[in-house]
Amino acid sequence: MGKEVRTRFAPSPTGWLHLGNARTAIFNYLFARHHGGDLILRIEDTDRERSKREYEEAIIEDLKWLGIEWDEGPDIGGEHAPYRQSERFDIYKKYVDELLEKGYAYRCFCTPEELEAEREKAKKEGRPYRYSGKCRNLTPEQVEEYIKQGKPYVVRFRVPDGREIVFNDLIKGEVKFNVNDFGDFVIVRSDGSPVYNFVVVVDDALMEITHVIRGEDHLSNTPKQILIYEALGFPIPKFAHLPIILGEDRSKLSKRHGAVSVRQYRFDGYLPEALLNFLSLLGWYPKDGKEILSKEELIERFDISDIHNAPAVFNKEKLYWMNGVYIREVLDLDDLTRRVLDYLKQYREYLDKKDQKVAEIILSKPYEFVRDVVSKVRDSFFTLKEFPKRAKPFFVEEFELTPDAEKHIQKVTPEVAKQIVSLYLEKVKSMETFGGEDFKKVAKEVAKELKLKPGMVFKTLRVALTGETQGVSLDLLVDAIGKEAVERRLERFLSLLK
Ligand code: GLU
Repeated sequence: MGKEVRTRFAPSPTGWLHLGNARTAIFNYLFARHHGGDLILRIEDTDRERSKREYEEAIIEDLKWLGIEWDEGPDIGGEHAPYRQSERFDIYKKYVDELLEKGYAYRCFCTPEELEAEREKAKKEGRPYRYSGKCRNLTPEQVEEYIKQGKPYVVRFRVPDGREIVFNDLIKGEVKFNVNDFGDFVIVRSDGSPVYNFVVVVDDALMEITHVIRGEDHLSNTPKQILIYEALGFPIPKFAHLPIILGEDRSKLSKRHGAVSVRQYRFDGYLPEALLNFLSLLGWYPKDGKEILSKEELIERFDISDIHNAPAVFNKEKLYWMNGVYIREVLDLDDLTRRVLDYLKQYREYLDKKDQKVAEIILSKPYEFVRDVVSKVRDSFFTLKEFPKRAKPFFVEEFELTPDAEKHIQKVTPEVAKQIVSLYLEKVKSMETFGGEDFKKVAKEVAKELKLKPGMVFKTLRVALTGETQGVSLDLLVDAIGKEAVERRLERFLSLLK
């Protein structure tokens, strides 16, 4: 209680966690932790039709996966429970009653048809629509009578005439709104459910939120919320509205730009550390310009005044690159190997059919072997999903030749290919040990003895050992699979030539 900084992330559970919302969660988290404060998770599920418990669970899982931790929330409880708005209706009712009693709000009995007529009229007269205020001054007797008649009503907030609301947004600077633009707005619908602009104020106040950090799309809601804070006598928190995120074509980031949910990136083989790091840099940049930052480094550096007041552009290639940096340079080898194996176990269904087969073979191999291969190819895969493709030659002995490989064999002729591979095999067999460092030496001997170009011999051996004309470094391959496997592969290739 009484912490200097308390932030909150307040998702609506109507779908998977979107990248933009994940960034909001991350900024709230970094800000709270930087200041030694608390983060509260609150589920905004007042829209009963669209809200689903399974989405809430998925959002929580994705936040945890990203490494975000909160101090109070529906899953862990806390002093200000409950943390689901659908469980707080009694609390809201109390404050609605207070607003009605004090005259800050009133019941409006206008029918949808009457409102529609008002709207039409405004349209015809070419002015923006706002509620006429028809029910503003009903007498208590009239109200009682209508209620007795069972007339449905909404509750509207009585917006004071001509007020200008000014607040200092931590990102946007001074923001001004004239309340005449929006008129008396609804705070409780006719079915009795309270609306977002009202409940968010009650919750933020009761949960002692000091900083409301959220997407720019909520900026225009803020003056309405400030009016409610004032009416209820609650202290007004500080606001920070984050710049929107655009796709590379400069339109608002949406499904049209491909994957936009955290979950999809998980399925696609991205690492949570990389995604967290990348999303943190959407609109914010540390003063020292360092880009690859651990969670601890982000917390240490995060400063809300460094957030740019300009749209952030989502650059997918940069995320891809950054994920590659984490794979190549950041994770230690055992950690990376375990992530590869976990990914293949959990998300095999997201691989294409061929890679699924490779994944099965990988999973059947001893951990030490997989780790060795990971160490040898870690600079050639950028996502966990790409590992089976890059590592395939290490794991698959029963391969087919690619069209290019077939072409190569036809070009050198099957007879010559056979000569090369037979001689090579003979030499390998005659050696006591055969490792990566021997690969080239023996290939050169073969080239010399058969009077062939070394390049052509190498390529033929590559085809014989992997079925492909390009790819992994062959000395690394030989090192990993060992002498016996080399012999087996060469013998198999010879049998294919027959
Ligand atoms: N539930 C709102 C949303 O998901 C959040 C509103 C807020 O942060 O005030 O957009």
